[in-house]
Amino acid sequence: MKLLPLSCVVLAFTVVHAFRYEDLVEHVDSHQEQYVQVLREWVAVESDSSDVSKRAELHRMMNMTADKLRAMGGDVMLVDVGEQELPDGQMLALPKVVTAQFISNPQKPTVCVYGHVDVQPGKLEDGWATEPYNLTEINGNLYGRGVSDNKAPVLAWIHAVEAYQALNMELPVNVKFIIEGMEETGSNGLDAMIVAQKDTFLGDVDYIIISDCGWLSLRPALTYGTRGNCYFSAEIQGPKQDLHSGVYGGTVIEPMTDLIGILDTLISPTGKILIPGIREAVAPLSDEEWKTYQDIEFDVENFKNKLGVSELMYNNKVDLLAHMWRYPTVSIHGIEGAFSAPGTKTVIPAKVNAKFSIRQVPNLDPAVVEKQVSEYLQAAFARRKSPNKLKVTMLIGAKPWLADTQHGLYEAGKKAVKRVFNVEPDMIREGGTIPVARTFQDVTGKGIIMIPIGGFDDGIHSQNEKISRYNYLEGTKLFIAYLHEVAQIQKSGV
Ligand SMILES: [Zn+2]
Repeated sequence: MKLLPLSCVVLAFTVVHAFRYEDLVEHVDSHQEQYVQVLREWVAVESDSSDVSKRAELHRMMNMTADKLRAMGGDVMLVDVGEQELPDGQMLALPKVVTAQFISNPQKPTVCVYGHVDVQPGKLEDGWATEPYNLTEINGNLYGRGVSDNKAPVLAWIHAVEAYQALNMELPVNVKFIIEGMEETGSNGLDAMIVAQKDTFLGDVDYIIISDCGWLSLRPALTYGTRGNCYFSAEIQGPKQDLHSGVYGGTVIEPMTDLIGILDTLISPTGKILIPGIREAVAPLSDEEWKTYQDIEFDVENFKNKLGVSELMYNNKVDLLAHMWRYPTVSIHGIEGAFSAPGTKTVIPAKVNAKFSIRQVPNLDPAVVEKQVSEYLQAAFARRKSPNKLKVTMLIGAKPWLADTQHGLYEAGKKAVKRVFNVEPDMIREGGTIPVARTFQDVTGKGIIMIPIGGFDDGIHSQNEKISRYNYLEGTKLFIAYLHEVAQIQKSGV
């Protein structure tokens, strides 16, 4: 007799929290035209954060995002993160950061979804086949600037919450959003906001979710690491003005020759970083990691063809993935002051400034790397006995991010992927840098997961960016399933 009331309670509990996944899926499928329409409206806003003349559009985009979340009953704030100084000294208001919360029950765990609604520049004349700000569907792909990076993933999260609401289902966890508008130009103001809201908006957040990356192949993936980046400038100043190579060539030690000479000491033709201390500091590749890479779906030939090269630095999958994700590399990006126009100008540039960067991985420390690079280049320059002046400056020092894949967040991710796609996800890392992940990690100390829904061939930051309708819709279902799975972490105490 004593057991009866208890079982009734258990039954009632089960009924209230029944996860009607099929109903949610049916809701997503039947609302797909609306989802595409909202995406069309969002893509139509030229929220290019790098173009200051588009700043009004960016503000409009933030307001649209806030309005959408407010209409769903969210507790929404537009957080002022200050101004940015333009090169001419003029001050320009930064787009406000949108925060929103949907609190279903303070006893439940709380997730915070981060995303951004600013985009890279996009112009038809850059080689787009369709108007970049006019969402165009071709063969199941939705083309438009910013669709995959990051407007559709942000909308997929919003629609996931909306689907629960539409079906009168309590959200399995509390959901918060932080949506910014300066990601593509370095997230100005965001770090300070995260620090300022550490104990307020972020105080009760248990987990942070970022969906600002893509799959590696057709197989869904969970992302557990990103590389950081140390970005340098190396400036060499020679004569006080540019010279004619016919008149003065052979009489002066040319800054460009010095610069090319020292740049060539950074990395060997086979990709070995030559700066002492960097390779030695890199975390060793464990057997387990090697095994993970071995299991990942990745076609070396396809990759090679996609890049249009006859040979890669490595010709096997594990080495390629490892060098894409977990080893540092040097890239030389450009030289300011160099003659680069068409024609045959016979100039000796007086001052040249090279930009190069070194991707950061565990256990490199940007502060140490800065010192190593600076000392190494100064020594290489000194050996040339040049009278010119070298100045090395680190412009960006972004740390890498690496998550613990044993964390319940990743188990929940695997279950959600399995439910929606009926496959195991690839466990991947990103070669690029998403500095906000590291900021969240350092400031909040909470578990972080990246759940991408973009396709491997979405062409983000490039011409003809797209997301497939399939990824957009199934991605929405994935987020719906994930909210359910993440609630189980607490219950089972994983
Ligand atoms: Zn992005």
